[in-house]
Amino acid sequence: MNDRFEERMSDEKVRSDTRIVAGLGAIYCAGNHRDRRRSPLVSDGAALGVYGRRVPRLCDECAEHIRYAEKRRAYCSRDPKPFCAHCDTQCYRADELAWQRQMMRYAGPRSMWHGYAIPGIKHALEARKWRKTMAAKAAETKES
Ligand SMILES: [Zn+2]
Repeated sequence: MNDRFEERMSDEKVRSDTRIVAGLGAIYCAGNHRDRRRSPLVSDGAALGVYGRRVPRLCDECAEHIRYAEKRRAYCSRDPKPFCAHCDTQCYRADELAWQRQMMRYAGPRSMWHGYAIPGIKHALEARKWRKTMAAKAAETKES
């Protein structure tokens, strides 16, 4: 782990985003990898106590994806960070992006039953606001 990661992970917004993505990953893993051995995530984020006592349980494969997601979130240079799906930087590697999409599609709707309802709703609202902003921007560009 380097200092920059640690410094970025001290930001409450970064921590909470990281918890959400790992929590959703755990829902996905529990639903799809029932036959695999799943254990509490071991990662730089976990070492920094980002997950508190609710360390998500993941199989080895999902843990690898979440370790990647932790780094991407920590090193995101956007502030405020846009909703990833609408970001024009797209810092994710193509294969990781594909995994993340598939994972979110499964875990997003199910997150309500797992205590992630509020972040889920917030996420949806943010996405709507973002689309509106982008639409307004596009309209402005056309006018000028
Ligand atoms: Zn898994």
